[in-house]
Amino acid sequence: MLSSTSKFDTWIQQLILESGISCQLCKSDSTVRVFSSGEFLNFNYLSHPGYGICLNLCQNCEFVFAEFVNSEVVTTHFEASRNNHNSDSIKKLHETQNQICLWQSESFLKNIPGKTDRLLYYSAARSLYAPIFSQVCDALYVVDLVPSFRDWVTTQIGLTLLQEEQLKDKDYVGYFDTIIVPNLINRLPFPNTVLSHFSRLLKRDGHLLFEVPITSFEHIREGKFGPEELNFFSTNSIHQLIEGQKRHFHVEKLQINSHAKNDPSTVWIESQVDNPRASGFVVLRNETPNKAPYLDEYSHLDAENIMRGLSLASLMRAVNVGGWLGYDLKSEEIEHHISVDLNKKF
Ligand SMILES: [Zn+2]
Repeated sequence: MLSSTSKFDTWIQQLILESGISCQLCKSDSTVRVFSSGEFLNFNYLSHPGYGICLNLCQNCEFVFAEFVNSEVVTTHFEASRNNHNSDSIKKLHETQNQICLWQSESFLKNIPGKTDRLLYYSAARSLYAPIFSQVCDALYVVDLVPSFRDWVTTQIGLTLLQEEQLKDKDYVGYFDTIIVPNLINRLPFPNTVLSHFSRLLKRDGHLLFEVPITSFEHIREGKFGPEELNFFSTNSIHQLIEGQKRHFHVEKLQINSHAKNDPSTVWIESQVDNPRASGFVVLRNETPNKAPYLDEYSHLDAENIMRGLSLASLMRAVNVGGWLGYDLKSEEIEHHISVDLNKKF
């Protein structure tokens, strides 16, 4: 007979198991929480190192994703890096990521279909590579989630800095010919909403080029990823992501690069990780632009995911996310005087 303590444990465990969020890509309810390497059926579910929330595995499409994380918490997380960066750390960060970023930029450059008018380069801490694309466009716009890199952009002639918030304005509907998104969709909640947003920002037949890492399940369980990674793709789940966007985008290219490259994969210089990962490279044409207003769609998804995911058990797991909301963003701003030699090979 079970003791009252183990009955309670079983009840709590059942609650945690049953409160899982459905898959954000394929909508399957067949999701399970990811447990730490070597553990099974206990309370050591893998807690996300950046947001302190459970990771879920979709058993249908193999997508692994953090449970509901509010987009404002993500913004706060990136804004907080301002206090951790100075000129030297940005340069150091750049050195560790240089190889993969140059390879990535070269792939994007090769796949831009001819000369383009307005190009948007949308990243987290990769703005240093934006100038490479000035050779293929008339006007180059940059969004960077990391404040230190935005500071850098403002010092550059030929780059126009935009804020994420500005892009929700109707003035930017159908504004861009090309959008390039390196290694970012894995860092934002609701990947489907992110892609739909890009469809709204692109002209009809404009192009979206993006790259996402492919992380093995074992590496996820071992915690080999940066603290801002929210979505972990497999080849299957990249297909599922694109499938979910067929109402807007025509797939022009999907290339899986299974040769693993090391990507420290973080904007936090002190938490660089050994992270060998493959990648998926995608080119989409905006056949049927998204005409829905930004806020309506996003609020709807937010509400839906709150209903599904933010149950009592999720709240228990997410309790430290609240800490981010009180993060001190008012510290004195750091002045950056950054001159980076990209060692261009283009
Ligand atoms: Zn799925």
